[in-house]
Amino acid sequence: MNTQLLHIVQNMPKAELHIHIEGSLEPELIFALAQRNGVPLSYPSVDALRAAYDFHDLQSFLDIYYAGASVLLKEQDFYDMTAAYLAKAKADHVRHTEIFFDPQTHTARGVPIGDVINGIHRACADSDVSATLILCFLRHLSEEDAFATLDAALPYRDKFIGVGLDSSEVGHPPEKFERVFARCRELGLHLVAHAGEEGPPAYIRAALDLLHVERIDHGVRCLEDVDLTRRIASEKMALTVCPLSNIKLRVFDHMREHNLLQLLDAGLVATVNSDDPAYFRGYVNANYVAAFESLPLGLQHAHQLAKNSFAASFLPQAEKDKYLAEVDAYFAAFDVV
Ligand SMILES: [Zn+2]
Repeated sequence: MNTQLLHIVQNMPKAELHIHIEGSLEPELIFALAQRNGVPLSYPSVDALRAAYDFHDLQSFLDIYYAGASVLLKEQDFYDMTAAYLAKAKADHVRHTEIFFDPQTHTARGVPIGDVINGIHRACADSDVSATLILCFLRHLSEEDAFATLDAALPYRDKFIGVGLDSSEVGHPPEKFERVFARCRELGLHLVAHAGEEGPPAYIRAALDLLHVERIDHGVRCLEDVDLTRRIASEKMALTVCPLSNIKLRVFDHMREHNLLQLLDAGLVATVNSDDPAYFRGYVNANYVAAFESLPLGLQHAHQLAKNSFAASFLPQAEKDKYLAEVDAYFAAFDVV
């Protein structure tokens, strides 16, 4: 492996656009928060909990993900979780991150939504990494629950920039949330949705046509549909790809079979992200390294992925231009690798 290329990829300025903050909860922090809050855990040690991260599909992952989130009770817990992620992001040369959070995972346990949003937002404000928040609706819950969550979140409207759709994809198509997304659109919120991870390309079409999303989260199955792929390319619709997540959840059996290179070759605005880094055992740089070690990706691909990450962000254009110039200046230093 070209170690100089890996070094370049790790040190390049980048944005992260697909990270669930609850998925950054490391076993050590879960144990510390469980102790602080007096929450009983069914695992005797940090190692036992880490060993239990041996899930085999999206649903078995989600089962342990929600168990881990059960230790989050106070505003400070949300602050500590977010601050820990932002420190990791900074170490990975992330300049800007758009963080997903799942309020329903917490409000269902009686945690006030204000404590969730304020804790996460305060950690973002205290960080020198640029960070904004995207509220995600859990798609396995009802439309009614999503509307209630949106209403509860509106007093904090200035603290999040958009909404997304996550959790179990199959059996919960985008059209279930068409009216919720229409309302969010009226409110001027940015719109994204998970689609085409475990679900079929039809879910990507529905996210585009019915939810009017501005980015597709995952979307790797779009290549199964040639017309859809052409459309996504022509609309410059970004895909937030999460390589380690895709392997861990068996979307691809091995990183050698991942379609990141084909997505780029098809002219798609693909980006690299960590999804749930504690559970998939890798923050954003680990995702880049895993992909570059297993796929025939080169310096031009690294440059393109760094540019894509900022171009696909919801930053104001002037901010995007500043970061894109930083990326170009960084890569100008490397003539031949
Ligand atoms: Zn995700």
